[in-house]
Amino acid sequence: MDHFHYRERELFCEEVPVTALAEKYGTPVWIYSKRTLLHHLSQIQQAFAAVQPVICYSVKSNSNLGILQVMQEAGSSFDVVSGGELHRVKKAGADTSKVVFAGVGKTDEEIRYALESRVLMFNVESEAELDAIAAVAGSMGIVAPVALRLNPDVDGKTHAKTTTGKKGNKFGMDIERASQLAAKVLADKRLALHGIHMHIGSPILTAEPYAEAVKKAVDVVTEYRRQGHDINWVNLGGGFGIHYRKQEALPASEYAKVIVPAIQAAGCRLALEPGRFIVGNSGILVSRVIYTKREGGKLFVIQDAAMNDLVRPAMYDAFHRIWPVKPSIDPPADYEGEIAGCELADVVGPICESGDYLAKGRALPPMQRGDLMCTFSAGAYGMAMSSNYNSRPRAAEVLVDGATHRLIRRRETYDDLIAHEML
Ligand SMILES: *Cc1c(COP(=O)(O)O)cnc(C)c1O
Repeated sequence: MDHFHYRERELFCEEVPVTALAEKYGTPVWIYSKRTLLHHLSQIQQAFAAVQPVICYSVKSNSNLGILQVMQEAGSSFDVVSGGELHRVKKAGADTSKVVFAGVGKTDEEIRYALESRVLMFNVESEAELDAIAAVAGSMGIVAPVALRLNPDVDGKTHAKTTTGKKGNKFGMDIERASQLAAKVLADKRLALHGIHMHIGSPILTAEPYAEAVKKAVDVVTEYRRQGHDINWVNLGGGFGIHYRKQEALPASEYAKVIVPAIQAAGCRLALEPGRFIVGNSGILVSRVIYTKREGGKLFVIQDAAMNDLVRPAMYDAFHRIWPVKPSIDPPADYEGEIAGCELADVVGPICESGDYLAKGRALPPMQRGDLMCTFSAGAYGMAMSSNYNSRPRAAEVLVDGATHRLIRRRETYDDLIAHEML
């Protein structure tokens, strides 16, 4: 469920007409619904309540301070993958003792910053990284809490660029190597093994990969306990799927059903790192049609959002629902294929790349210059992956709460584009 809905053929975010937001803040513009953010976070909080998990919102999915603050106030913690993200969550008021630090390439500076910030633990992805963490911790005279990131060799059945838990991708380590490292941790006074970490991939639309992963994690924890480690944490990462095409996502309770009993039986603490599940369906990208044209037997709708704003279609072949803000036809239940009264069009942006599109061969009601259109389910990995390619200032971000709304990132100016450059 989300709080973007049509009332008499006009799109609203919560109680606010999207047209009013586009007029006030300009286009392209990202619009987030606070109620939807809270709804998705609380779904996870409730589904997993029996094991009192630490929920670490994955900052990389959307790192705007306004979003982080909403998460912080609602009791979420954070998963960071860089020093920059750690800086952000501290600005948002996070309790760093519940923050986890992930990523395959942590530098010494980042490790030091995280140790100074007393994070809950590092998700360690290699022996070389473990050595670096031990060295930095040793130089600071403190003990570094670590979790070993296992590659569970589980197929999340997702896009090649977003699968992370199969043998052969760069993340984590296999179970045998992890066992060697665990022995090394036990012998090193600068390190303490607190847990096991896994992240299978994203988005994952079935519970089975988690059932497999949690079983492997619990087996490993049991083995490490036998070896003398005081190990408690199982961190199952993120990856829960969302609604991109229709209502295809599972409720959080379906994942909890396979995860919670295994965690309870093993007497472990659970950490989760959901990003997309919380923020994905909580955000839309609103754009305005600049021109339409017919060429080569095709209809093109050229609008003012582009791949520098939302790169997911170009990068992951991602599907986002797109529909006018004030449509002449009610939105369909199924956005794929032909729709009565609609024509197939490529929805493209102004960037000089053939890969610059939001959708191809998409059924849309007749669109005209000046019309507003909405790209749905764009809250995760949208603005977070945006760039200034073609010297396009990044779009504004707006947070809606009931009938009120506020800017949480102003639109960039031309001067912002060159602010860091030197003549
Ligand atoms: C990206 C990532 C996440 C978040 O994934 P979502 O699909 O947004 O839930 C969590 N943990 C790790 C280690 C990640 O790399």
